[in-house]
Amino acid sequence: MQEFLDLRSLSINNIVMSASFGACLLIYSAYNSQFRGIRQTAYAFFMSGIAFLLIGLRNYIPDFLSIVLPNTLLTLSMASIHLGFIYFYQLDTRLMRQFHGVMLLTMASSAVYFNYVQHSVNARIIAISFIIGFQCLYIMRTLLTAHNKANFTIGISYLAFAIFFIIRGILTFTQDSIDDFMTSGLMHAISIIVYELLVAVTSFGVVWIVSYKVQRALIEQASHDPLTKVLNRRALENIINVEHSRSLRSNVSMSVIMLDIDHFKRINDVFGHGRGDEVLVEVANILTNNTRKYDSIARFGGEEFIILLPDTALDKAQVIAENLRNKIAENDFNFNPEDGIQVTASFGATECNLQRDGWLTILERADHGLYQAKADGRNRVVVCSAKNQDAEPLITG
Ligand code: GH3
Ligand code: MG
Ligand code: MG
Repeated sequence: MQEFLDLRSLSINNIVMSASFGACLLIYSAYNSQFRGIRQTAYAFFMSGIAFLLIGLRNYIPDFLSIVLPNTLLTLSMASIHLGFIYFYQLDTRLMRQFHGVMLLTMASSAVYFNYVQHSVNARIIAISFIIGFQCLYIMRTLLTAHNKANFTIGISYLAFAIFFIIRGILTFTQDSIDDFMTSGLMHAISIIVYELLVAVTSFGVVWIVSYKVQRALIEQASHDPLTKVLNRRALENIINVEHSRSLRSNVSMSVIMLDIDHFKRINDVFGHGRGDEVLVEVANILTNNTRKYDSIARFGGEEFIILLPDTALDKAQVIAENLRNKIAENDFNFNPEDGIQVTASFGATECNLQRDGWLTILERADHGLYQAKADGRNRVVVCSAKNQDAEPLITG
């Protein structure tokens, strides 16, 4: 039965796979050095390659080199795979180091004990199977801390590996005493194939997880203003479209606030562009910290921002705008009193009051309110109701 799946050939296969995937990952990590942890995975595969080389030489080299060392190396290899993911996600390494330390000690001592003291191939297989199974479960847990398709798929694969190795351990209990691992049977031959699968899945997983992270960063860059980190105009236009349709569909109000920093040009002219940038960032932070999670804030132009307030009627939007106006006017922007600078902003607010007007009309109305606030002396909120196109200065600062 073992003629077509002999363990020595499978070991050679595993050496080739581990070495080639390890080399590929090492090159990949050199070109993606901003991501930590890929190198640890490559080293893990080199270790497993050496382990299978030593296993393949069983009965030709001393037991210590072909039994104790490869089993310990395989355990170390799993720890290194785990360390790679931990580094990638910049998680705390303390607990995992302790866990794998215990696994390594257990593996090394069981390999020594069940070879030199009480010879039992079954016991050694049980030990390595349970240890790799537990290590797979721990790696799965780390992978599932990030919630995305890549991590989920690789995490589930690790669960499958864990189940296989633990079942192998349990079945080995019931198996007749094994004389020689090299002729131990089909299940143990399959375990070497499963380890190859683990190498392939992990390599693919690392590349997938890295590309997922790059993709997320690109999406973030494409939709956010690099200076203030709030949404950019294009992203807001997409969100407004969606929210506008949703508010029409579900018959709930949606409001929009548009604001523009007063006399901002003066700050730039007197204190320089850099200081102007700092004020922009500070204002964006005030807006973010004083709105709800599901409100969208965007930088619409130079010193102009838009806030989209889903499920919000105009009277509520007016209160929110007035609060923001106050927060900006009262904020300490670190100008000296003798500079005579008080940073303020003017606000226009309007609603999408279940009318069939497009969002461009809504923005025009908000802009109209803002224009009116500037004309009326700045540092104030002007609301424009959907029914009445004319601006009504309801609250002034
Ligand atoms: P008003 O009260 O009427 O709004 O006056 P203002 O000076 O704020 O308005 P204006 O539109 O004349 O000036 C806006 C200035 O914003 C002009 C431009 O140089 C500056 N600006 C635009 N983008 C940036 C930026 O990214 N950083 C800095 N520092 N300034 C910017
Ligand atoms: Mg301005
Ligand atoms: Mg402006």
